[in-house]
Amino acid sequence: MQIKSFVFNPFSENTYVLSDETGTCAIIDPGCYSAAEQQALEGYIVSQKLQPTLLLNTHAHIDHVLGNAFVHRRWGLTPQLHPSDLELLRSAPLYGELWGIRPEASPDPEIFLNDGDTVQFGTTKLSVRFVPGHCPGHVAFYQAEAQVVFSGDVLFAGSIGRTDLPGGDLDILMESIHHSMMILDDSVKVYSGHGPVTTIGNERISNPFL
Ligand SMILES: [Zn+2]
Repeated sequence: MQIKSFVFNPFSENTYVLSDETGTCAIIDPGCYSAAEQQALEGYIVSQKLQPTLLLNTHAHIDHVLGNAFVHRRWGLTPQLHPSDLELLRSAPLYGELWGIRPEASPDPEIFLNDGDTVQFGTTKLSVRFVPGHCPGHVAFYQAEAQVVFSGDVLFAGSIGRTDLPGGDLDILMESIHHSMMILDDSVKVYSGHGPVTTIGNERISNPFL
């Protein structure tokens, strides 16, 4: 599996494109907002001759869903996310105004994700882990063969997700991290919603919040 990452929008959010040997790909948290960012995402997918077949959101905070409308328009995909974040998804344009940006409304999901689900693009399967606390409907995506997890805003290199936004809860977040993330092997790579790639092992020994 190939992983391409982009840093998009004023929140420096990480967008990931996962592809495999079949030439299909999944887009996780498209945060592209400006025309240049949309072109960067499209340019990569077109130049690599990839066909996007999955649009996944770890959660529906605005910085993670800004490009949902673009991906829907360009490739016809609707986002898949946890049902507890639907309200957040629908209110994203309102939150955008608070931050001085005017996002296009995301299309509604046609498929919702729940804990233990498997999503697939090409021959690659990702397992869905429900990890609430940063927001009510947060999920992480774990790819067992490649030993990677896409942790959204739950776990970062040296930090954890903030819990001061509506729907955030520190106790629930800590439980999610300990029961769904830290049970993974130390060698598992963690691709977060912001900042650099880390590993479970690194965070186990050096993350001051754990
Ligand atoms: Zn977030």
